[in-house]
Amino acid sequence: IDNKLAARDLVPSRRQYLELKRKYPHAILLYRMGDFYEAFDDDARVVARDARVTLTSRTFGRSGRVPMAGVPHHALNYYLSRLLNAGHTVAIAEQMSEPGKGLVEREVTRVLTPGTVVESALLPAGENRYLAAVYDVGARIGIAWVDVSTGEFRLMELRGEDASERLQEELARISPAECLIPEGFPYELVLSQSHATTVRRQNCDPQVAYQLLCKHFGVRSLDAFGCHDAKASLGAAGAIYTYIEQTNPSLLCMLTSIRMECAEDMVGMDPATRRNLELTRSFGTGGSRGSLLGVVDQTSTPMGSRAMRRLINTPLRDLQEIRRRQDIIEPLVQMPQVRARIANQLVQIGDLERAVSRCTQSGSTLRDFLSLSSALGHVDSLVRILSGTHQQALANLASSIDTCEDILSRLQMAVAEADDGSPVILPGFMPELGDALEELRSAREWLARLEQKERERTGIRSLKVGYNKVFGYYIEVTRPNLHLVPREYVRKQTISTGERFVTEALKEVESRITRAEDAIERLQNEAIALLRSLVSANTRRLLATAQLLAEMDALVALAEVASRCGWVRPLVDDSDVIEIRNGRHPVVESSLEGERFVPNDCYIGGNWPRVLLITGPNMGGKSTYLRQVALIVLLAQIGSFVPAESARIGLVDRIFTRVGAHDDLARGASTFMVEMVETATILNGATERSLVVLDEIGRGTSTYDGMAIAQAVLEDIHDRVRARTLFATHYLELTTVAKKLPSAQNVHVSVAEERDHIVFLYSVRPGAADRAYGIHVARLAGLPPWVAGRAENILHALSAGTEGESTRDKEDEGANSLVSKVDINNASCHLAKHLFEPGERYTCSENPLPVKISA
Ligand code: ADP
Repeated sequence: IDNKLAARDLVPSRRQYLELKRKYPHAILLYRMGDFYEAFDDDARVVARDARVTLTSRTFGRSGRVPMAGVPHHALNYYLSRLLNAGHTVAIAEQMSEPGKGLVEREVTRVLTPGTVVESALLPAGENRYLAAVYDVGARIGIAWVDVSTGEFRLMELRGEDASERLQEELARISPAECLIPEGFPYELVLSQSHATTVRRQNCDPQVAYQLLCKHFGVRSLDAFGCHDAKASLGAAGAIYTYIEQTNPSLLCMLTSIRMECAEDMVGMDPATRRNLELTRSFGTGGSRGSLLGVVDQTSTPMGSRAMRRLINTPLRDLQEIRRRQDIIEPLVQMPQVRARIANQLVQIGDLERAVSRCTQSGSTLRDFLSLSSALGHVDSLVRILSGTHQQALANLASSIDTCEDILSRLQMAVAEADDGSPVILPGFMPELGDALEELRSAREWLARLEQKERERTGIRSLKVGYNKVFGYYIEVTRPNLHLVPREYVRKQTISTGERFVTEALKEVESRITRAEDAIERLQNEAIALLRSLVSANTRRLLATAQLLAEMDALVALAEVASRCGWVRPLVDDSDVIEIRNGRHPVVESSLEGERFVPNDCYIGGNWPRVLLITGPNMGGKSTYLRQVALIVLLAQIGSFVPAESARIGLVDRIFTRVGAHDDLARGASTFMVEMVETATILNGATERSLVVLDEIGRGTSTYDGMAIAQAVLEDIHDRVRARTLFATHYLELTTVAKKLPSAQNVHVSVAEERDHIVFLYSVRPGAADRAYGIHVARLAGLPPWVAGRAENILHALSAGTEGESTRDKEDEGANSLVSKVDINNASCHLAKHLFEPGERYTCSENPLPVKISA
């Protein structure tokens, strides 16, 4: 359009729009027009698609018709969040002059990018929203990430051959809303996950960044933050700093410190493993319900909920920190009342992190400071509850919390809550404000008395004092009384029923009122600015307190869960074993609703076998068992208690899973390829210290191929990798392989058999499964009996063709004899629930199946 029409041919509003748009070429420009924010041209198409509104068009006089899409102003936030979630940057142009006379002035007042949102209406309360940046120096990759609404600012430096894989892993963990990538960044493919914004390389110069950050933090060196050898990540931090400075400089005050994270201190997990273990998101619900987070997130505040998410996403290899957390949780488990009292205070404190952040922003209101003040008012009692327990770990935590009482008392001297709940500035904080308020009050009082006074003085009973916007205050006299009007009244306006007058005194009071009102507004703004600078000057302290409280909240929640669900403190050490007695799957157990979860042991590593080969029918509980072990290890390494009767966990350095995950189904044809890529990652990345969980590998290809691959993988893990491994398979042939491997053991999930029925017992027993039970499971699933019968015949024929019986051995018989000990009724009911719609034929609960142990 620019080219087609010279600027002078454009109608003014179109020209204004295009000029604003030219300044924000990379943003969607939302342009306020009356009750709507409109987008035009290509922006309109994007808004229509991603904010899901109707695409229309509009004529700009002789400048022609252009596409347009708009959102109503009262629902701006709703549509903004859609646009931001889709990864767009949005510039908002407001009307700066009253509409009506000529072209309305417009200015861009805010630029929102997906990673720099602070508006609480646009942020999910229980999640962090990170802006990340990456940068490379030689073979090193640096990551920096920040949540500007909480002030968390971290760096990580990745070196070594697997740096690019680690980059992918870390970004999956951080899961940024926006990622800044320097031009020509060589690992761009890795970054497909998040919304990428390209930035100039010169904004990432590590040396410049170092200087910038020193200046910003007011320090001479960053050594105290552990950043002496962090070239690449400092470059990334520089990109973040410059980006925020350019888009939203008022957010810079939220950057109060920086923390180095070290990949070696954490348990590595690739993106697939995070998904497969359903740590924060379940396949079933798509949200946190049904995930590990859903079970443990019993926090009292949104900041606690965010802290919990971080804990779960970041299991540690740091024994000291793990034990510190255990030491805090343990006494809390034993003291339900203390827990309840702490939770009570936390609820009052609320989201302190974001309360602080709101107070530092230009839009902050008096209410924000009142909320901050009331939140801080509860910190001291919380600290006293902690130290009152006389528990060393809790007392240590208490003494590390800065109660910020000086800040609190200054806030309390400044704002208070009026009787009607509204926030007011206290007279002592700003004496001039008190004077102005008094002046306003007395002028208004004079006005209120004026009508009566003048009626008496003039004898005009119907005399009225009124106000309108154009003339201000006036005295109104009706026509029949005009002869009584005193001389000093000055006529201002004639109306149909009479005349309106002013007097010197009235004019003076009017100007007193205006002056007082102006002063009040100015002083109130001044007071807010003062309070804002008070908070901004103390952001570092306030946020440090908030972070400790958030962590506290998460640990109290873990104690709550431990106590409610009967979890125990695991022994976490440097050893090489995993010993779990009667472990349970935290999520499956909590979803069973009254039915009993069958607990299982797991002994691997140390003097135990290193590899367990798990066989048994589909639906028998294999994947549940694998995941349960992985989750128990993970919980142990975040410092939590674990769902078991007892557990000893020798630290693992990484957790790998390769499971026939639900999400693979969606990927269709490439399933086998994905599976092999993931398997390759494991074989290349796992060490002797890792935990490897493999479920049904080799399924995506022909039986012989699949079996051959599975066997080769099993052997390589056993002989070379030597990671502690759980390997579930439906290839019964592998059990003979495992028998020959010295450090592998066959186990199976047991079933009871009743003629053509099987009942799942979910109990993991030594020895290999004797048969696949595929046809039984198919029968339970409702396969027509004639098809199941035919399948059985075929199976008989096939096995008659092979030499001899199947590979049953003595071990298995021993195992099977354990079956009868288990609560079959319970297990079968559970199965019924799984496979049948309510009300269908299968009625095991009224009619328990007899147990028959197959010969
Ligand atoms: P598989 O991997 O062998 O096909 P799953 O682990 O998916 O089987 O288990 C199937 C279902 O059986 C699970 O969804 C769960 O409801 C139930 N289940 C599994 N293990 C147990 C257990 N230990 N106790 C009770 N129910 C279980």
